[in-house]
Amino acid sequence: MQITAAVAREHGAPLTIERLELDDVQPNEVRVRIVSVGVCHTDAIVRDGIYPTPLPAVLGHEGAGVVEEVGSAVRSVVAGDHVVLGAAYCGYCRRCRAGEPAYCEHLFAEDFGGRRRDGSSALKSKGEVVSSHFFGQSSFATYADVVEESVIKVDRDVPLEHLGPLGCGLNTGAGTVLNELKPPAGSSLVVFGTGAVGCAAIMAAKVAGCTTVIAIDIVDSRLELAKELGATHVINSRTEDVASVLREITDGDGVDFAVDTTARPELLRMAADGLGVRGTLALVGAARPGSEVTFEYGSSLVKGWTFKTVVQGSSVPQVFIPRLIELWRQGRFPFEKLIREYSLEEINDGFEASRDGSVIKPVVVFPR
Ligand code: NAD
Ligand code: ZN
Repeated sequence: MQITAAVAREHGAPLTIERLELDDVQPNEVRVRIVSVGVCHTDAIVRDGIYPTPLPAVLGHEGAGVVEEVGSAVRSVVAGDHVVLGAAYCGYCRRCRAGEPAYCEHLFAEDFGGRRRDGSSALKSKGEVVSSHFFGQSSFATYADVVEESVIKVDRDVPLEHLGPLGCGLNTGAGTVLNELKPPAGSSLVVFGTGAVGCAAIMAAKVAGCTTVIAIDIVDSRLELAKELGATHVINSRTEDVASVLREITDGDGVDFAVDTTARPELLRMAADGLGVRGTLALVGAARPGSEVTFEYGSSLVKGWTFKTVVQGSSVPQVFIPRLIELWRQGRFPFEKLIREYSLEEINDGFEASRDGSVIKPVVVFPR
């Protein structure tokens, strides 16, 4: 069928709106009419060539929409179901079998390869192959053929216009806290970078019962929103000395948990130094392959601290995303506060607003 999509053709260049041909639904695929799709920093780093999805490509990996048609082997949804689209995973490797699809051994191929498992693409532009199946979906488009692993069925009474970002950024931030770090009630947690991922981590820290929640950023408007979402303290790292403020807030003890969404080595170092005894630093931010960071490990040995990298909030999306929706219903995960809507034609404005800090979560919404 003919679809309209935003196509990344050249590293660093704006996406172009084009008509493309979408292939027939394969046995393991679900055709989804996209209603909304979030713009994530990960789309930008692929558009810019930092991660190696072959261009031209249709990116977009935070889709939500309505199932139009299902392949013959699909068991989890039927036509008419409302779905959120998450990251893809193979379902068969040891990590997937162990219930950790976020750490799928084939994650790079499944999410960034731009092809189906058989090497084909679902998208063509006048005969030219265009990468599809980005995160199993390629949802910067009116329709997508999505692998079943990426499909999460949700209740029909929640607004699909808002749900897109649950699939990646919000899942990642909230899952890092609720699935991976599991902070005890009364503990302290600091978040470096208050974009969509960081804001989700802050809301989740509040849900978990952290009594000290510290937000760090360089954009004051983002820090204001962080307070509204539950941060008890905010630090502008451009104008304040992070190390001394963290010491002051924690009476010299250091923080129990740190989440880094900036992927900047100097901030990772600051986060590690700011941890207290038995503290844990979780890296979520994505950096260019080959990036390195240094940590002090002489006197910090006695802290017994942990550094870990966390993918997709360590979540099983089909389990975790419905939980986030329930928290949203109860007013405990008010992620709509992060969203500004764009049309597909305005998608590059959404990327720019995310980059310059003025919008936390741009969401492309399609006319119904
Ligand atoms: P974002 O760009 O909206 O957020 C990053 C935030 O960091 C911004 O608010 C920015 O102002 C802040 N920042 C930048 N430099 C800073 C500095 N020197 N000091 C303090 N704050 C600073 O991005 P996002 O959508 O929230 O995503 C965050 C990161 O997570 C990205 O790198 C993204 O690619 C990555 N990501 C990883 C996963 C995963 O599975 N690990 C999933 C989704 C996103
Ligand atoms: Zn796997």
